[in-house]
Amino acid sequence: MSQNRILIVEDEEDIAGFVSLELQHEGYITDVAGDGREGLDKALNENWDLILLDIMLPGLNGMEVCRRIRAVSAVPIVMLTARQSIPDRVAGLDNGADDYVPKPFAIEELLARIRVLLRRTQTQPDEDTVRAGDLVLNPSTREVERNGQSISLTAREFDLLEMFIRNKNHVLSREVILEKVWGYDFTGETNVVDVYVRYLRNKVDVPFDSPLIQTVRGVGYMLKE
Ligand code: CA
Repeated sequence: MSQNRILIVEDEEDIAGFVSLELQHEGYITDVAGDGREGLDKALNENWDLILLDIMLPGLNGMEVCRRIRAVSAVPIVMLTARQSIPDRVAGLDNGADDYVPKPFAIEELLARIRVLLRRTQTQPDEDTVRAGDLVLNPSTREVERNGQSISLTAREFDLLEMFIRNKNHVLSREVILEKVWGYDFTGETNVVDVYVRYLRNKVDVPFDSPLIQTVRGVGYMLKE
């Protein structure tokens, strides 16, 4: 298993250094950013498994850093706060933090919270399947079931359905569908998409009397969960 990477955004050097050493001792790879702007920069430009984020930071405060990270990334964020007030905790969680640890904290508690969060975000119980409602698709075996009933699809139909499920509840234009499923920029006829959507509907929607694939007039299609 690869080592998890944790970014520590904390301006108090003693705390940052201590936490960093403890995390390394536990087998994590760490880096420290000493102010909000550097933290945001590192958060957005490198890959992290988790970010520890102090609230009171020079440059850009932790709440703002959290909000900006969350706008583009789902990385787990634990806020470190000297202030224990309820409004701060709520604000932190509203800004997209996953957890908060009030200072001063016992390092064991911090480590435990990190372990829990990493386990939660890295365990995907149905990793082998993608689903939408009662429709379940297994990309490795290429099996499809709806409402417990097995459905037989051609390779292209399968790819189309998988693409719809992975982009469920998003409207997709015919051009985008072509590019994602057929794999190239298609400049000519896009009605091949309509043809395949019809095949797919006849197998996954029509027999079940509850359509998942919707036509969005003038735009394209959407699988709506
Ligand atoms: Ca601070």
